[in-house]
Amino acid sequence: MKMWPRSLFGRVALVVFAGLALAHVLTFGALLRERGEFSQDMMLAYLGRDVASALAILDRVAPDERAGWLPRLARKNYVYALGPAPTAEPANGALAQRLSQSVSAEVGAARVGTMVRSGPPDTAPALHLPLRLADGTPLTLQLLPPGAMISNSAVALLLLQLAFLAAATWWGVRLAVRPLGQLARAADALRPGARGLVLDEHGPREVAQAARAFNAMQQRIDTHLAERQRLLAAISHDLQTPITRMKLRLEQLKDADPRDRLLGDLDGMQALVEEGLAYARTAQATQEPLRAVDLNALLDGLVCDALDAGHDAELIGKLDLPLVTRVQALRRALTNLLDNALKFGGPAQVVLRMAPGEVQIAVCDRGPGIPAEELDKVLQPFYRVESSRNRDTGGTGLGLAIAQELAVALGGRLRLLNRTEGGLEARLSLPLVSAGG
Ligand code: ADP
Repeated sequence: MKMWPRSLFGRVALVVFAGLALAHVLTFGALLRERGEFSQDMMLAYLGRDVASALAILDRVAPDERAGWLPRLARKNYVYALGPAPTAEPANGALAQRLSQSVSAEVGAARVGTMVRSGPPDTAPALHLPLRLADGTPLTLQLLPPGAMISNSAVALLLLQLAFLAAATWWGVRLAVRPLGQLARAADALRPGARGLVLDEHGPREVAQAARAFNAMQQRIDTHLAERQRLLAAISHDLQTPITRMKLRLEQLKDADPRDRLLGDLDGMQALVEEGLAYARTAQATQEPLRAVDLNALLDGLVCDALDAGHDAELIGKLDLPLVTRVQALRRALTNLLDNALKFGGPAQVVLRMAPGEVQIAVCDRGPGIPAEELDKVLQPFYRVESSRNRDTGGTGLGLAIAQELAVALGGRLRLLNRTEGGLEARLSLPLVSAGG
């Protein structure tokens, strides 16, 4: 099925056009056939009378003048020749018989011989009908093979009609399929926290209905997500005060062992609350104004901070032009990625690369990486890989979720890849022209 197109557009267009073209060509063929039969009937009726008058003329003119008359008596489909017919096999086709009968009926069977056919087999033959003039001179009526049944102008007309059919098919199918493509693009662009594509609600009824339904669904998802973020923000915010109060009260506890353990738990709770708040705030990241920033300086600052804190980190590559982006959101996302690389994978490398239309900031480490089936899951909030829970690396499982939300708010995307040489690469791709959103 190599001819079967892969796109819906191609398939529908092919089916519609093939059906229309077939029906059209069949109708054309049927009309042509009918016309052929009709003109054959007319020709047969005319031929007998015409041959009779040709014989009458030749009978009357002097024998030596007859040859001069022959071209004048010739017609488009038949000519006369003085002399007997060539020796060839008799023609017994239906048309030959009808021709003989038509001539015999007008000039009398006695003056008409047996029709013979000549010409190579498998081609339309030339037919020769032996006749005799009144004085017994042999004369041959030579019927030329029929020319093309269809004229060049009719072929041109047929091709023109087929071209119109093709154009109408293309236009009609495009009209029907285009909204599907727009819907697919809008669905593809649908990302939590990012302004999706709003579909045009005008147009044919079904399309407008689908567009309204899609826009409403997009709106519901946005509202739902915003509500969840608000809830998380409210809980996180309200928990901060009691945690601080409990800490103050615990400070007064004399017994050091339970006090330190409880304070440790409260520190964990506080970290969770702070991360929860940070996660909830990612929804507002798109409100931060766009600014042109020197990405080299920003990354250099992050790497220097890590070095100052005693970690091993380096920056590779540089960008020659300023990047238009939301700097707070970008710094926050990169800090999370770099923290993870240092926490889970020892020495970290921040690699700056250019790709068509985007700039990539890859935060690479030499740690254990993440099992392939969990690469997507760790981007979800509160998801932590089992081994890191067991090793109790600390953390809330929100760092990557925050980085992912911020990447979307920056009009880019975050991807995690296990490096072939070992370790994880967290690749943040940002659009070069505008930060989107
Ligand atoms: P947290 O670090 O607070 O646990 P994250 O969302 O930052 O939460 O990370 C989720 C999980 O992804 C981590 O618990 C860890 O299992 C895994 N992970 C993140 N970064 C790395 C890394 N650089 N190398 C290995 N595993 C990682």
